[in-house]
Amino acid sequence: MKVPLLDLKAQYATIKDEINQALIRVAESQYFILGPEIKKLEETVANYTGTKYAIGVSSGTDALLIALMAIDIKPGDEIILPTYSFFATAGVVARLNAVPVFADSNPVTFNISPEDIEKKITSKTKAVIPVHLYGQSAEMDKIMDIAKKHNLKVIEDGAQAIGVNYKDGRRVGSIGDIGCFSFFPSKNLGGFGDGGIVTTNDEALGEKLRILRVHGSKPKYYHKIIGGNFRLDEIQAAVLNVKFPHLDSWSAKRRKNAELYTKLFIEAGLAEEEGRISYDEKNKVLLPKPVYKNNIPSEVTGGVYNYHIYNQYVIRVQNRDDMRKHLAENEIGSEIYYPVPFHLQECFKDLNQSGFPVAENAALSSIALPIYPELSEDMIAFVVETISKKIMF
Ligand SMILES: *Cc1c(COP(=O)(O)O)cnc(C)c1O
Repeated sequence: MKVPLLDLKAQYATIKDEINQALIRVAESQYFILGPEIKKLEETVANYTGTKYAIGVSSGTDALLIALMAIDIKPGDEIILPTYSFFATAGVVARLNAVPVFADSNPVTFNISPEDIEKKITSKTKAVIPVHLYGQSAEMDKIMDIAKKHNLKVIEDGAQAIGVNYKDGRRVGSIGDIGCFSFFPSKNLGGFGDGGIVTTNDEALGEKLRILRVHGSKPKYYHKIIGGNFRLDEIQAAVLNVKFPHLDSWSAKRRKNAELYTKLFIEAGLAEEEGRISYDEKNKVLLPKPVYKNNIPSEVTGGVYNYHIYNQYVIRVQNRDDMRKHLAENEIGSEIYYPVPFHLQECFKDLNQSGFPVAENAALSSIALPIYPELSEDMIAFVVETISKKIMF
């Protein structure tokens, strides 16, 4: 049995006619830039995330970049972010000649540790970028308290977490000053290419983000500030508008797949429960844990509570590289998110930051398993069985 890490063709097959019609609609209209599809997508995402303003942009990376520009990050400003994330989270900071200051992660969720954020604050700190890693919220109450106390802006990197509820029912992207999302094809809501969106409840920031998206011009050809071309294409928005109504059911299927993995790992005797952080005889596989599970009444969330949308289902094992090889030999896809934390990246060597044991351990032992919505139960059982064989014999 072949189990790829991700199978976008399986999803396309379920919505092919609608997608193709949307693509033809854009082709017929010959309206490609900032038209009706973008407007519809922005309204949908604002409503869905519980924010007043949503502004479609060219990618998740550009969402982060434009967010930092909107809060006036200047050269030398320090921005605190997790050392364990996708490169974009740190790259955008360095591109503005600001200084990425790394924080370690929580050992259960791998989300940024609020305790470590507090230790890294200096008089130069301007903002924090919590990442909602793998599809569950960072500890936003603690992070917002710290930000308030030290007068810091909070930019949420929700690239892997669209639609995720925090424990109080609010959705990520509505809690900090600006939320950033990606429509890269492998995210839970993926376009036919690059795309992203920023969200905010602050009217002035919403207006500024909109202006920054078009080179800082308002009205056209008059520039009080310098922005860039951060526009999202109509064709991407048209695809995303077709996919959007399916997002919650896709995320629910990912969650169901995750629950099955967890159940099967426990039944196979490889783990006792979710969220263990160290290995022993009865816990040879460390399982992810949705930490905010069932904390919130459905009246608050409208019945859909996305405590974890499993953009990734990440387990940890000892001898991770041997295990990946074994999986590949059995035609099972896997990936490492992420093999090198930022503080160990060559490009950030000169920053000389160290002391991140949780992130370093995660980088050495984590494996993301196939979790996409269209996986069958047999495929999941085969993955667990294959892992089990390697550990038991
Ligand atoms: C995917 C991702 C991004 C970047 O999004 P792109 O659309 O690929 O530019 C940023 N941060 C995180 C955590 C991501 O997973």
